[in-house]
This record gives sequence, structure tokens and C-alpha cells, in this order.
Amino acid sequence: MTRIVVAQHAGACFGVERALDLANRAAEGATTDVHTLGPLIHNPQVVASLAQRGVTPIERPEDAGEGSVLIMRAHGVTPEMERRAQAAGLEAVDATCPFVKKVHRFAERLEVEGYQVVIVGEAGHPETEGTRGHAPGALVVGTVEEARSVEVGRRVGVVVQTTLERPLLREVVSALIGRCEELRLYDTICEATTERQGAAAELAAEADVMVVIGGRSSANTRHLVDVCATRCGATFHVETPEELHGAWFAEAETVGVTAGASTPSAQIDVVTKRIRELCDARAAGTS
Ligand code: SF4
Repeated sequence: MTRIVVAQHAGACFGVERALDLANRAAEGATTDVHTLGPLIHNPQVVASLAQRGVTPIERPEDAGEGSVLIMRAHGVTPEMERRAQAAGLEAVDATCPFVKKVHRFAERLEVEGYQVVIVGEAGHPETEGTRGHAPGALVVGTVEEARSVEVGRRVGVVVQTTLERPLLREVVSALIGRCEELRLYDTICEATTERQGAAAELAAEADVMVVIGGRSSANTRHLVDVCATRCGATFHVETPEELHGAWFAEAETVGVTAGASTPSAQIDVVTKRIRELCDARAAGTS
């Protein structure tokens, strides 16, 4: 019988659970429209289920009717967005993860103290953009090559996207050393990220097949896929059980399962159940 093992640390983190809780509470007590500014989290199934309950994403505060509730997403928003929500007469609910808020505060402080702020992370990602809004002079560096070529000042202050892999941070910081006189680092990588990546790496090393569950636009889920793929050649990324194929598990003795920080446990359960059915059907010769 195929072993199916779920990673010790997998699925929704504290910040995502908190954002979902705030959104659900806003939906329950709603006497007016409830919106999220962009998708609440990077998980299309969760976003669709919130929409069924009347919580719909909008792109700009001005798209909401006056008096509506506007939930600021877990990845955080820029101060300008907060001002625009206020100016549009909206009732703001701040679902920004407290760990992301800490990154905002560090970035602000560094800029005020005269450092050239460098955000190590993915350019264009909502979290990085939100942080940049708090330190408008910040540069975003996503690769070692960029760290080697970017124009920095004498004093450099680094903050980090919460979902970055720590080995990449080490390489980027090494590349910045020697290019400035002073380098101050706030390592703002979130523990939930390192725990999930560590547990996924351990499991992928012993699994014949790895299944990673989570939104395709979720940065931390994609990082988990990369971590698993370097240790287990048969690594597959799915959002729903319908995407699984029985053939993936034909030769597998051990199937590992992990999930990004924006994947609720119910989603892990349905995918794991389907893997069990597919493995059992193969064993019984019915598929
Ligand atoms: S991964 Fe960490 S920082 Fe990001 S939402 Fe979850 S708890 Fe917050």
C-alpha cells in the first residue's frame, strides 16, 4: 500500500488564517458591500468561495460604493491605498499580516535614517509593492546578478520579502558586501516560510512523488515547488484534486504532500483523499 505523508509543516499560516477570519467575520455581519483590495490571498479557490459569500475583490478603492467595507489583503498595501480608501468613505478592515507590517516599519525606519533601502524580493509582487510604498526610495533586488549591478549608496539597509528562501538572501547580502560602507540587515523572512520549506525538503528527499498544493500565483507555493523539485524529480504542483493523474503514482511507494502558506487545511484534505483513491485504484488494477 502506498504511503501518503503530509509534511510536518504545511498549509495556511497564521497571517492567512487571520485574514480569512477577518473576511468571514466581515461577511457575516455585513449590512453593506464587502470587498477586498485585490485577492485577499493568492488562492483562487478561496477567493471564489469568498465571492460566493459576497466578499468580492476590487482593484481600486474608488471602485467601491461609499460606506462599503474594504479589507486590506494579507500581503499589505501602500499608505497611498489606505489614504484613497479613507477618501472614498470606505470602512477599512486591515488584514495585513502583522509580520508584513513589521517589514513596513523597518523599511520606513531605514529610509528615515538615511539608508538606501533594498528590498530583497520579487519585483511586482503585492507584498514587495506594499513595502515599497512605505519606503518610496527603495530598490527591489530579486537575484544575485541584480545585487552585483544595482547602484547603491554608502549606507544600505536591507529588508526581505517574508517568503524568500534564506539561501538566496545570504547570496544577495554577500554580493552587496564590499559595495557599500555600511550594511544593515533586517532579516524579515517569516518563520512559517522557513518551516514549510524545511519540512518540504526533508519529505521530498525520501518521497518518490511530491505533490505541492497551492495557488499558481502564490510566491511561497512556487518556492516550495522549487525546493521539492531539486530533491524529488517527480514533483507536481496542483490547486485542486481534479488536476491529479493516477499515472503519477503508478510506481510510487511514498507520496509526499505539502502546501503553501495560503492553502487552508480543507484543501489539503481533499487533495490527499483523492491521491489515496488514485493509489488504491491503481493497486486494485481499476485505473
Ligand atoms: S507567510 Fe508569514 S508573513 Fe506571510 S502571511 Fe503567513 S505568517 Fe504572515
